[in-house]
Amino acid sequence: MKSVDAHIADILAAVSPLSPRLLPLGSAHGCVLAADLHAGVALPGFDNSAMDGYALHAADVAGASPDHPVTLPVTGDIPAAPGTPAPVARGTAARIMTGAPFPPGADTVVQVEWTDGRMDQVTVVRAPAPGQNIRRAGEDVAAGDLVLPAGRLLGAAQIGLLAALNVAAPTVHPRPRVAVLSTGSELIEVGGTLGPGQIVDSNSHAVAAAAREAGAEVRRFAGVPDSPDAFAALLTDVLADADAVITTGGVSVGAFDVVKQVLAATGEVRFERLAMRPGMPQGFGVLGGVPVFTLPGNPVSALVSFELFVRPALRWMRGLASVHRPTLVVTTAQELRASPGRRSYLRVRLTGAGDGRPPVAHLAGGQGAHQMSALAVADALVIVPEGGADVPAGRELTALLLGDETVASQAGGAVPADQVGGVPPADRARTEAGA
Ligand code: AMP
Ligand code: MG
Repeated sequence: MKSVDAHIADILAAVSPLSPRLLPLGSAHGCVLAADLHAGVALPGFDNSAMDGYALHAADVAGASPDHPVTLPVTGDIPAAPGTPAPVARGTAARIMTGAPFPPGADTVVQVEWTDGRMDQVTVVRAPAPGQNIRRAGEDVAAGDLVLPAGRLLGAAQIGLLAALNVAAPTVHPRPRVAVLSTGSELIEVGGTLGPGQIVDSNSHAVAAAAREAGAEVRRFAGVPDSPDAFAALLTDVLADADAVITTGGVSVGAFDVVKQVLAATGEVRFERLAMRPGMPQGFGVLGGVPVFTLPGNPVSALVSFELFVRPALRWMRGLASVHRPTLVVTTAQELRASPGRRSYLRVRLTGAGDGRPPVAHLAGGQGAHQMSALAVADALVIVPEGGADVPAGRELTALLLGDETVASQAGGAVPADQVGGVPPADRARTEAGA
């Protein structure tokens, strides 16, 4: 049997970050910058007022106080609006708004709270220092500055900065377009009426959701019947405009395992037995440049395999440097059964985080490959090594944190930030199992 680590390494060596494209900001959100971004303009672009108040010459109101207020004529308004303000002559003031261009002649802004706020003339009761309340051009970003390095994930703050810099379409790795195909003649679409021997297709929904969480754009093809012709025809179709294809079911040794039947014949997809539980039968290959992942049909096997093999590949295709789930050390709450020769990924809940000791891992429910209820409430997958010995209560094991990153921080795990790309795939293949 092939090791999990070897399978991850093979997959990451076979996929690469998607070719960079210029995407408008709305589509670039959640993508990774493919090139260093240097500012084309300065921020702020011009000197402007940081306050609503009056632009004037500090020397004209030096020594102003409540007991000795100073009154100046107001010559006009300077709004935050297009245009160039007129100069402010000595002995006068101009009413100015936050963000409005700072006028020539003046050297400070006295905020409205230090005045009587009038429009025709203004009485100043506190003396501003020269240069006060002026945002200087370029004090945030100078033109030419490296503001965001290649490899940076574009979240809200980065999108905002790009817009401020007047970058309408940054160069990013696009999101992978993923086709999810569930196979099985027993499957009906959710919401339908079940007949004898039928089950609701959960894999296509679960895997599609997992792929979206991994940053992909997903098309779902549900309940492909166990007919080699039907499967082959659909596959040809979806390969035409997908960056990756994920199938579920039909990869073991049953009589109607069409995925294996059709894809093994291509010679490009390899079907292997992995030393893991759940998820032993796996297939992977590249068809016409498109990676194809064939996951087993049992729902827990499908999602656990997605976590281990597909999620890292999709993240690597997105250009992220950090592709694996974060790991942490946990203490077992009860004896955990080993599966000799195979590495087990058991679904656990974590408790007791935050007191400085490792969280305690409790089995989240039944551990069968068909038992979705435990996975649905699990915080983590605890790894029981392939060595063979059962693990008694109170031992430390490594676990992969599931869910979003807030779950990870609640459990006390370190969540590695996504960083600059460029680490070769081989270095990414280190698995979380640490075995
Ligand atoms: P297979 O790998 O196709 O033999 O499927 C293994 C087990 O997983 C069988 O019990 C199937 O009924 C079940 N299964 C396969 N595909 C799905 C699916 N899309 N949703 C839920 N269960 C599935
Ligand atoms: Mg099947």
